Amino acid sequence: MSIGENIAKIREQMDRSAARAGRDARGIALMAVCKTKPSDAIREAFDAGHRLFGENRVQEFAGKAPLLADLSGASFHMIGHLQSNKARSAAQLFAAVDSVDSRKLAERLNEAAGALGKTLDILIEINVGGEEAKSGVAPNSRDLGEILEHASDWRNLRVRGLMTVPPFTEDPKGARPYFRQLRELRDAIAHKSLLGLMMDELSMGMSHDFEVAIEEGSTCVRVGTAIFGARPKPQ
Ligand SMILES: *Cc1c(COP(=O)(O)O)cnc(C)c1O
Repeated sequence: MSIGENIAKIREQMDRSAARAGRDARGIALMAVCKTKPSDAIREAFDAGHRLFGENRVQEFAGKAPLLADLSGASFHMIGHLQSNKARSAAQLFAAVDSVDSRKLAERLNEAAGALGKTLDILIEINVGGEEAKSGVAPNSRDLGEILEHASDWRNLRVRGLMTVPPFTEDPKGARPYFRQLRELRDAIAHKSLLGLMMDELSMGMSHDFEVAIEEGSTCVRVGTAIFGARPKPQ
């Protein structure tokens, strides 16, 4: 199947999941995760009408971005771990950073976005499974509190919500409690209505579990393999 056909098929699955959950599918974005894939594959998705993309490495995307400069209306989000010393390049290359996991990184991004005269959307990445190897702040941690407390000081950032990558389980249903936990955390933060934060976005769900994520309230599923095919295994 072509990339365009894969996208159409996932959209249908998303529609069905939304219907099952009594949700409006129009409120759920599909992000095509194109990390490790060549610019031609991204162009193919764009030509099929797709506009939202996710990358996980600044350096890799810096190489591809010049080849994609003509894709008007395409939006690229950073979804991988970002070191604060790469905040400047990230602010330049991306429309949004969905993987903010420290106050320091947010401050650097705010400065960089300010210098560029732009506003970056950000999501706070939450490590719901408490996994050592994963990035993201712990739910209810001091680190999370610090980000939320200072969010309204950052004039060039808009904090839009939360993102997570749950622990992997063979059975996609295994991710359900983690997705639910992220939604409840988002609701709790929104409820406190801290500083008028919007917090409407919940980025959760990947190729093998996006249907469960939609049932649990996802507003953006990040799908790589099911659109572009398998990636080479990381060493
Ligand atoms: C790679 C990646 C995805 C997509 O994973 P697939 O299983 O290929 O759909 C989603 N989110 C993040 C943060 C990723 O790094």
